[in-house]
Amino acid sequence: MLFLIKLGEIALKRGNRGYFEKKLMQNIKRRLRGDTRRGEMQKGRFYVEVSEDAVVRADAVLSSTFGVVAFAPTIAVGKTYEKIKTAALQVCGDFLAQAGSKTFKVAARRSDKSFAMDSYQIAQKLGDDIRYTHPRLSVDVHSPDLTVHVEVRDRVYIYGNEKRGLGGLPVGTAEKGVLLLSGGIDSPVAAFLMARRGLRQDAVYFHTYPFTSQEAEEKAEAIAGILAPSFNGINLFSVPFTDIASRIREKAPPAEMTLLMRACMMSTAAKIAERQEALCLVTGESLSQVASQTVQSMRFTGGRAELPVFRPLVGMGKEEIINLARRIGTYETSILPFEDCCTVFAPKKPLIRPDLERMNRSYHRLEIGASVDAAVEQSKRTWFGPST
Ligand code: ATP
Ligand code: MG
Repeated sequence: MLFLIKLGEIALKRGNRGYFEKKLMQNIKRRLRGDTRRGEMQKGRFYVEVSEDAVVRADAVLSSTFGVVAFAPTIAVGKTYEKIKTAALQVCGDFLAQAGSKTFKVAARRSDKSFAMDSYQIAQKLGDDIRYTHPRLSVDVHSPDLTVHVEVRDRVYIYGNEKRGLGGLPVGTAEKGVLLLSGGIDSPVAAFLMARRGLRQDAVYFHTYPFTSQEAEEKAEAIAGILAPSFNGINLFSVPFTDIASRIREKAPPAEMTLLMRACMMSTAAKIAERQEALCLVTGESLSQVASQTVQSMRFTGGRAELPVFRPLVGMGKEEIINLARRIGTYETSILPFEDCCTVFAPKKPLIRPDLERMNRSYHRLEIGASVDAAVEQSKRTWFGPST
């Protein structure tokens, strides 16, 4: 079975289009494992051949691989009208098997001008033949239920309705980042948006046993598992944060606690990033969502990392974020009711406009460097693979 894959933004790249295409093909092949027979590139399109029993899996892989804008199972035939007709009738038959009586149109395109019929003639004649063989189908050129695509290129490619993919750029084309993954609603969505721009990601989860439960950590693991297939796999670093949290509670005024926790998370994540050769951090912060996400707060916490901190949700509202979380499939897991460390250690009156100088002094007073190093040392890595 042949699949046609359409590329969006990649097709517009000039000098390094080949790099993006190659990466996408690698990502698809890797996820399909032994099942790809052939991958071919032609002018902004791919054709991938998979074995008959891998069709369902190929469908799942192509719907969830960044860089794929649309795809469709396709029949490729030699350049005669009879062959085109046979294939088109099959596409219609398959469609009718699921859909009952419906409307259709033919969209023909002729790149090879040596083919005897032009696209108008192909559409005309094929339309007649389809109606004759499948009387349950009637023509609607404006909003048909089925579009029968015919493309005359090196061969003739015939396919029905396209399915939409995730779009974006292939994961791995934009270096690697470290995601601060909390198990809440926001951070998985942030991760998804960065992956869609091609960023590969390792994730860190900070746990504070016994103040937070085993289940809270399992939630972060479950989310990593949901994201992993589209992300080319994810390393999840589970980092013990209880010592750091306790030290902050001992040494700092309650109002500063959340911010200092965040700052320590940033510096710990930055250490892990360095070890993993990652070049940026990613968080699920959104401007003014909570006290620790005001401009002043983010300026302080972000300042603890020398790497750029990407916050793709910064301009989004909660409702938008929730809608995305639903689409990505992480929402239901994210709302499982297990305390995260920040609820446990949250002060009653957090600082909303922290003074940078004062916060930096508080941070240095913690003398937390050795504890951060120890937390990195004691972190436990779990690999979530990319197979569907
Ligand atoms: P989320 O829904 O992602 O948990 P949130 O709205 O609960 O976000 P905060 O709890 O303030 O917001 O966390 C802000 C960001 O800090 C999170 O999006 C995440 O990137 C990071 N973060 C918070 N807690 C943890 C944690 N326990 N482990 C790893 N990262 C965390
Ligand atoms: Mg949270």
